[in-house]
Amino acid sequence: MGNQRSSIDIVKNNKGKKRLKNKKRPKMIEQDPSERIKNFAEVSLGLTEEMVELETQRCLQCENPLCVAGCPVNIKIPQFIKLLKEKKYKKALYKIKTDNLLPAICGRVCPQETQCEEACVLNKLGEPIAIGQLERFIADWERKNNLKECPECAVPKGIKVAVIGAGPAGLACAGELAMSGYDVTIFEAFHIGGGVLSYGIPQFRLPKEIIKSEIETLEMLNVKLEYNIIIGKTLTIEDLKEIGFKAFFIGVGAGLPIFLRVPGLNLNGVLTANEFLTRSNLMKAFKFPDYDTPIKIGKIVTVIGGGNVALDSARTALRLGAEKVIVVYRRSEAEMPARREEYHHALEEGIIFQFLTNPVKFIGDENDDLKQMEVIKMELGEHDESGRRRPIPIESSEYLIDTDTIIIGIGTKANPIITKSIPELKISKRGYIKTDENFQTNIEEIFAGGDIVTGAATVISAMGAGKRAAHGIDKFLQEKYINKKE
Ligand SMILES: Cc1cc2nc3c(=O)[nH]c(=O)nc-3n(C[C@H](O)[C@H](O)[C@H](O)COP(=O)(O)OP(=O)(O)OC[C@H]3O[C@@H](n4cnc5c(N)ncnc54)[C@H](O)[C@@H]3O)c2cc1C
Repeated sequence: MGNQRSSIDIVKNNKGKKRLKNKKRPKMIEQDPSERIKNFAEVSLGLTEEMVELETQRCLQCENPLCVAGCPVNIKIPQFIKLLKEKKYKKALYKIKTDNLLPAICGRVCPQETQCEEACVLNKLGEPIAIGQLERFIADWERKNNLKECPECAVPKGIKVAVIGAGPAGLACAGELAMSGYDVTIFEAFHIGGGVLSYGIPQFRLPKEIIKSEIETLEMLNVKLEYNIIIGKTLTIEDLKEIGFKAFFIGVGAGLPIFLRVPGLNLNGVLTANEFLTRSNLMKAFKFPDYDTPIKIGKIVTVIGGGNVALDSARTALRLGAEKVIVVYRRSEAEMPARREEYHHALEEGIIFQFLTNPVKFIGDENDDLKQMEVIKMELGEHDESGRRRPIPIESSEYLIDTDTIIIGIGTKANPIITKSIPELKISKRGYIKTDENFQTNIEEIFAGGDIVTGAATVISAMGAGKRAAHGIDKFLQEKYINKKE
């Protein structure tokens, strides 16, 4: 186990009053890298109560808290931290849950460093408050104590709303609608909920039991979950209308893998991160042979990409027994979209990064088994539409990397199943659903949010969209049905 000491020291001034010696935040307890690469247990183990006590003292309780504006679901951060400081844990939990029903998840995977913590005033003075870690602490405290705080629901309105997709966007939308008194059913294609949280993010970053437990909070709000139903195939929106649903939220994510256009894509040993992570996470290949999903992993695994998907694939491959894992990314370290914490963890675990490198072709043997990858060195040019400097190949700089497995983790795009089943629904050229600022589509009863609107983004931005879409749905239903009744 890692260092269990907090990096904050308390000193007393000449009047005997306690103050913090330094402005450092506590370091989470973590599994030792040499140990954790042999297991799928969680890497970060959270804060101790003592660390929380010290960290909450650093919060300045700003009158105009920038952190709240920095959070896409606007959690009342100073208030929950104050309650934590006063050790009113149940109340702190309740405070968070009125804005965010998935605190144990968000406390673990949200990119706080670019959201609430980036906005924290202390960021300019030293280190920002560890908001995510405090959120995680209180959510874990709830589970450890077998409690289940759940906000109250308004009086039932007797109006049915269908939410399509049980990812962060759908779950947030469903929770918000249920709290407003709607009769909500989530239709999910897979056999479990959570979306990417379940099939994409590995167990060592986000244990499945946490996702299950947070979905239970929704069930306590009387949200119904119907699994193994693909809307657009098993049932259509028209079928749902016939059984009485009055409004719809589409939160189906953007789960279709993007392939590289290079020769050798069909060789044995070339996988997409989607397939690799779904097999490992959802179908529990990491527990093979206890679960009968095999997963072939070579001695040298090369992962292409620089986001969370690529890093999750690399770290999973290591835990599945790869001897060497290389991440090949076409831009530089500075442009890498993966969370800093994950990058840091990957380095600690011995993952090798080759920046400014791009695949040219995959090379196999006579049996079409992958053996090598030809890559080319890149340099950064002008800024492109993403705001990052464009990678440009350096002429005649090609070289070979020996590899048995290649995992392509360069991103995902919209899956057209549902949009094709609603031909009049307006979509962008890339297949994403178009909405207005209230997340309403061109079809008045259909709303959408999350990755299917923005393209691949973050858990909390999807949740924010789901929440705000729920407000839009409420307004629409109030005007169309409820106010008319009165
Ligand atoms: C490997 C990986 C790691 C990531 N790591 C992070 C991270 O650390 N932090 C972070 O903030 N973000 C991370 N992200 C991004 C984040 O997970 C997504 O932005 C977020 O999950 C999007 O939420 P969503 O609800 O829009 O879609 P999804 O999570 O994709 O959920 C959509 C759900 O809809 C279901 N569905 C699809 N089509 C249908 C249909 N026709 N009928 C019924 N159900 C359907 C799917 O099965 C799925 O359950 C990661 C993404 C990946 C792939």
